[in-house]
Order: sequence, then structure tokens, then C-alpha cells
Amino acid sequence: MSEINVQLKDGTPVPVPDSATVAEALKRLDRDLAKQALAAKVKGREVDLTAQLDTLSSDNGAIEIEPIIPQTRDGLEVLRHSTAHLLAAAVLDLFPGAKLGIGPALLDDPRYGFFYDVITPQPLTEADLPVIEKRMKQIASKNLVYRRDEISKPEALRIFSERQEPLKCELIDEKAGDVVSVYYIDDSPFIDFCLGPHVPNTNKLRAFKLLSLAGAYWKGDASQPQMQRIYGTAFFTQEELDAWLKQREEAEKRDHRRLGRELDLFSIQEEYGQGLIFWHPKGGAIRKEMEDYLREQLVRRGYGLVYTPHIAKRELWYTSGHEENYADSMFSPMEFEGQEFRIKPMNCPFHIGIYKSTQRSYRDLPLRYAELGAVYRAELSGTLHGLARVRGFTQDDAHIFCTSESVHAEILGCIDFAFNMFEVFGFKDIKVELSVRGDDPEAHYLGTDEQWEWAESALVNALNAKGIPYQRIEGEAVFYGPKIDIRVEDAIGRTWQLTTVQFDFNLPERFQLEYIGEDNKPHRPVMIHRALFGSMERFFGVLIEHYAGAFPMWLAPVQVAVLPITDRVNEYAEQVASELRDARFRVEANLRSEKIGAKIRDAQLQKVPFMLVLGDREAEQKTVAVRERSRGDIGTMSLEEFKKMAHGLVETRALNINNQAQEVQQ
Ligand SMILES: [Zn+2]
Ligand SMILES: [Zn+2]
Repeated sequence: MSEINVQLKDGTPVPVPDSATVAEALKRLDRDLAKQALAAKVKGREVDLTAQLDTLSSDNGAIEIEPIIPQTRDGLEVLRHSTAHLLAAAVLDLFPGAKLGIGPALLDDPRYGFFYDVITPQPLTEADLPVIEKRMKQIASKNLVYRRDEISKPEALRIFSERQEPLKCELIDEKAGDVVSVYYIDDSPFIDFCLGPHVPNTNKLRAFKLLSLAGAYWKGDASQPQMQRIYGTAFFTQEELDAWLKQREEAEKRDHRRLGRELDLFSIQEEYGQGLIFWHPKGGAIRKEMEDYLREQLVRRGYGLVYTPHIAKRELWYTSGHEENYADSMFSPMEFEGQEFRIKPMNCPFHIGIYKSTQRSYRDLPLRYAELGAVYRAELSGTLHGLARVRGFTQDDAHIFCTSESVHAEILGCIDFAFNMFEVFGFKDIKVELSVRGDDPEAHYLGTDEQWEWAESALVNALNAKGIPYQRIEGEAVFYGPKIDIRVEDAIGRTWQLTTVQFDFNLPERFQLEYIGEDNKPHRPVMIHRALFGSMERFFGVLIEHYAGAFPMWLAPVQVAVLPITDRVNEYAEQVASELRDARFRVEANLRSEKIGAKIRDAQLQKVPFMLVLGDREAEQKTVAVRERSRGDIGTMSLEEFKKMAHGLVETRALNINNQAQEVQQ
């Protein structure tokens, strides 16, 4: 029996029999790690612990084994993916004849951790979820083994058609090579076509919960069979699951769809179309403040504000490559006077139009065009969600055209802008991700190696220059260039990906963009796409949930509620309201003949930052008794004094009354 050397990263090689499994090798290397491991990476490939070493490597060097352990992203993926299998096993057990679609792990969805698409003989209802979950627990407690097998494609097709799993057969037909990897959970009716890896046995799955049921189509295509999607989540420990469920409950209270209705901020009306947003006056007031902040910064940072049409001739979308790569997300063309037009899904080609409207010299660059550009995308109805996923939205879009020498400074400018914005809106824990090309030979990337290396180093240098820590993510770049994504944490610890800064080698080439260089010769400019909020709609949704509807003074749709205690002082109340309006506050005076308690409750429910309670004494002394929404009474003062304090909050865009002095907008 021959031996091979195995080692941990940067560790010492240790010999093991070449027939050893990954688990056995790990045991030799580090008993503790071996005990924790859920799966492993061998030569960069994720494999099961039961994989045999001699099947993984043919060369003679030491094999590096990296265990996939709990409390890591890779570990969570293996855990959740394996739990999805457990779910499928329980469904098959309870509902013989059920057909299975796909069941991936979800790592970035704040609402769910995995799903499985199924078709059961009788449609499932919410009441079935606890029953299925109970069966999952029963199966898990039996400590069953996840077993991988490699069989021939015809054999796999035979097995799955015998089991009357037409969808799995379709997948195998489309995706499998000659050898098909299948997984069993031993002693359960489950078998799946899957590459793995999975946890070694069901005992590793201890903290999971089924969450909800939704409609889904096979392959997300409405012409395909309708399925049901069972959502759930899983964590390494019960404590983590409990904490997450608690956060979820808090998130439900903050749900922007609910608060949007209660605070009369926006609506979506089925009669007009799904995924189309109506901003009501109160939502509109907030939007105006968001836009004012943006425009103020844009002008200060040397952007030109542009406006471009909502439709363009179809030819444009051929030139831009959207017809080729993006047609599924675009609304169908419309015809007029023998020409075809399409409504825009992106603003980029239009800003290019402005760039191309005249000859550009290196002296003109950088050119920064910004637009609050409305775009429309044909999103499937099943994927729409409140303000988060819509069909029509406004991007806070900008395109920067520059020379390669100034890229570094432009990237820094974008990052600085983004960080300013997060501070103003009160987001913490900013995480920067740099997505670069992977080494997948199948992946198709535009641009030369030199261009990519140069662009990546420009992004890296910009981040390093600012001392910003970042995570490098291989293989996540868009096909036309590397990008920086920025994620932030909201008030209840959920993360949102908002800002993106992307390089583009593609469009300048396709549109033959040029500038005349110092050498008097034409050169290709670099193009950067960037959006900070992402879209006005989605960011608005995030803000509603972040603030739980209690917008800071500068954003609040009604900033001051004027509440007379008795009808006798209505006239004084009107005078106060009018003076505040003149000072450009958004004010509502509640002159209804109601008890003051009811008026205060009403303003409190509407989350108005300040209430001015006015009685005979206030009217006589020309003062106001001030209530702040979270602190209650903060004292009686002259209207001038109140205006001064309130102005301070608005001018500094303070997040709350405590950090009024914080000069956030500088
Ligand atoms: Zn699997
Ligand atoms: Zn763009």
C-alpha cells in the first residue's frame, strides 16, 4: 500500500495511506479540526469528508486539505444546503409521489436560509410546515449518512425516471457529464442529483426551521410547471437560530410595506401594474430630501446633472449589447413610424450619447454625468417584493469618463462619496467587497489580461490608499470589468448591499468612445458606472426599515405637529404653524376638537419628531411646550428658540436630537 503526504495550509506534510478518506487524513493532521469539519476543500475543490484522497489527486506533491468548519460562510453553505436535502427527504417521506425541483442554500437573503421547490400530490398549506419540520427532526436524530455515488448518465436517468422525477431527469439531461454525482440520505427515500458537498451525517443538523411557502415556477419560467417553494433557514446552534428569529420578528414590525401603508408613504396598485411605485406626498417629501442631499453633493463633487429620455431606438440596444445579453429583462419593443423603440433598463448608453455629442480632449476629462434616471425592467411577478424588487425605479446613477491616469482618484472620489452618505443616513459597519475575475476557464470576460490586471490594481490601490479593509472575492466580477460593492449594517444588524462602483471595458469599446490625448492621437477613455443608493425605491425601503418609520428631523415628512389643547388657542396654533412654514418646516396643525391625549397619540403614531402643545398660557406668553417623539416633554420655550434648535437638526442632517452638533454633511 503506498502513501501520500497531506498537509494543512502552511502546515507540515504528514504521510497517510493513499486509500485514506479526507476525514481520516484530517484526523492525522488535527483531531480537533477533524471533529468540527463539515466538509473540506482539497486543491480548491469542495469535497465530502468521505471522499478518498487517491480520487482527488494524481500528482506526487503533498495534498493540501482545508477543512470547512462551522461559523464560516463556506460552512454555512454546506450546512444549509444539506438541510435543504433533509427537507426534501421529509417531503418525500410524508407525501409519496412528490416531485422535486431544486434546493439551494441562500446566504445573502436576509429572510431565508434555503429553499426546496416541490410538487406534491395535494398542494401544501402553511399548516403542513410544522409537520414537515417535525419529520426533518426525526430523520436528523437517526444520524443518517449522506452518501455520494458516481453513476453513468443513462443509469442516473433510469433511476430518476423510475422514481418519476421528470424535473430531475431534465436537469441531468441538461447539466450532467458522462458521470453523474448523486446523493442519498441512507434509510430515507431521498436521492438527489447534486455535486455536493454535504455534511457527513444528519446529526450535524440541529438548528433549523421552516419559515414559509410561496409559489414558484420550474426554472422561474411562467410557461413551465407551477411548483411550491418551501423556505427555511438553518444555523450551527439553537442560540443563533433563536437570535435570528427574534431579529426576524423585529424586521416584520419594521416591514416597509406595512409602515409604508400605516404612514401613508407609498403604494403599489395592482390595477396599474405590479412592481410600479406610487410615492404619496409624505413619501415624496422624504424623496425630495434624499434628492436634495444627493444633488448638493453631486454639484460639490464636480458632477454634471443630466436628464435623458426614457426610450430609444432599438438599434442603440444592439450597439450597447443589451439586445444580446439583457433582452429578457427588457420590456418588448414598440413601433412607431416604421421604427422600433425600447424603454430603457439602464441609463449608461444615454450618458455615452452625451459624451459622444462632441469631440473630447484629455483636457475635458474627467467627465462625471449624474442622473436620477428612471429605468424599467421586466421582472417576473413572483420575484417582486415591495420597494426592494420592482419593475420601474429611479437609479441614482452616474458615469465617469476618465483617462487611465485619473482612475485612481475617481475611484477614491466614489468611495468617499459613499462613506459620506452612509454616515449621513446613519449606517454602520461598512464592508467593502472587491469582486475580481476568477480562474474559471469557462467564464467569459471581456477585455485583455493587461486591462484586468491594471483595473484590479487601480481598485486595490484606491482602497489601500484610504486604508479601507476589504474582502477580495474571486470570480464575482461582472463580465465587463471588476467592481467594488459596499454593504452596510442597518439598525437591527441586517446587511444590505447598496453601493456599487464598476469598471467597464465593454461599452467604451462598443461605442468607440474616444478622446484626443496630449499626443494629439485618439485614445479610449475608461468608463466607471456607479450608484450609491442603488435605486431611490430600494434605498427608501431600506431607510423605512432602518429607522422603523421614525425618520430623523431632516427627512421626516411632517417635522412638527402643532397641537392646541383647546379650541380657544386655535388661532395662535395657526399662527405658529404659519410662522414655521415660513421658516420652511413641514408642519401640520391639528385643529380638530379632540382631547390633547388623542392628538398626541396620533402624532406619535405618525412618528412626527416634534409636537408643540399649546394651551392658554402658551398663547398668552407666546411660547410653545415641546414634546420630542422619543423623549417626551423637553420644556417650554419661545418659538424663536424652538426654530433655532429645529433648524440646527435640519441643517446638520442630524440623526437624532443628541447628535445635533455632529457636522455630518461636511
Ligand atoms: Zn446537494
Ligand atoms: Zn451604467
